[in-house]
Amino acid sequence: MLYTKVKVNTAAPKSPQANLLIIYTGGTVGMVKDKHGSLVPFNFQNIIDHIPALKSFQIGLAVYSFNDLIDSSNVKPNHWIEICQIIRQAYDDFDGFIILHGTDTMAFTASALSFMMQNLTKPVIFTGAQLPVGVARSDAQENLVTAIEISLAKRNLTTPMVTEVAILFSNRLIRANRAKKTESVQFDAFESENYPLLAEVGTYIHFNEGALLPIKKKKRIIWVDSLCTQVGVLKLFPGISQEYVKAILGMKNLKGLVLETYGAGNAPTDKWFIELLKNAIDQGIVVINISQCIGGRVIQGQYATSAELKEIGVLSGADMTFEAATTKMMVLLGQGLRPSELRKKLVTSICGELFNVENSFLNFIPA
Ligand code: ASP
Repeated sequence: MLYTKVKVNTAAPKSPQANLLIIYTGGTVGMVKDKHGSLVPFNFQNIIDHIPALKSFQIGLAVYSFNDLIDSSNVKPNHWIEICQIIRQAYDDFDGFIILHGTDTMAFTASALSFMMQNLTKPVIFTGAQLPVGVARSDAQENLVTAIEISLAKRNLTTPMVTEVAILFSNRLIRANRAKKTESVQFDAFESENYPLLAEVGTYIHFNEGALLPIKKKKRIIWVDSLCTQVGVLKLFPGISQEYVKAILGMKNLKGLVLETYGAGNAPTDKWFIELLKNAIDQGIVVINISQCIGGRVIQGQYATSAELKEIGVLSGADMTFEAATTKMMVLLGQGLRPSELRKKLVTSICGELFNVENSFLNFIPA
């Protein structure tokens, strides 16, 4: 086992009403100053010294700590698999899971996990901090304490309020696969431009019950443990050259491409560009179109500059975030699906990551 499990010494009674598992992966959140004044990861067993408020919950808390605590810029898909496996192994023993993670790639890990653990019946909440727990004005305590409260919240007396993967940050609960880190300095680091907040935290925690995924008790949980990383990204910019596009599409063994287009899914109409994309699709590379805008959606065919993309078989990523599109691609490509099934799943919501309005009444431009 790569991890050591530590029971945190809270003031919990012998059989506490709830048990939560914290998975500590690293990031700014868990740093304290060493004797030279440099920030270093702290021993999580001593968390009560830094966040005494944890004692007031009287719940059982256990921690799995990554042996090598990482800045989230070093997170790789195999870390997602490891987190998924820990939760799977511990699923029956805990009432909820909190993942402490660096903010830089939190939206990727949380999105990936949302596709790797479908039909959850318990909360899986990511959080972290912009300032380390060992710094006076740190947001770590507030974020962790709120993540715990959210994990303990119930819809009625028995059903957990949150039964999906979400990010709690700076008083907002955001669906994992709708979140995007948009701020590196202010405390409110994450936004959910295309989907309502799942909860807003003030003196009360106000859950937006209609926005939360309903619990699917009758569906078995789908655990995914293989991912395909042969995925590429092509972000458009004015002046993009044929050589550049060729180099990306020519990547050996490329299986999927996230095409980051302008506005509502628009791209240059140059013949060479469309032909290169068409060749790639004809060779079996799956291409999904998402917008560089953080709000709004791709509607292929709304403008002439996206009509050809649709014709050659580029899929519409609708209102998915870049983080959701890339991780969904990796998860689905890793499942060895038939091409038609893969294409269908990419454009269909698996766990609330997209809303596809193409061909719907919303796709209506007034005359
Ligand atoms: N570089 C850090 C990380 O993502 C930043 C943070 O934790 O907020 O791991």
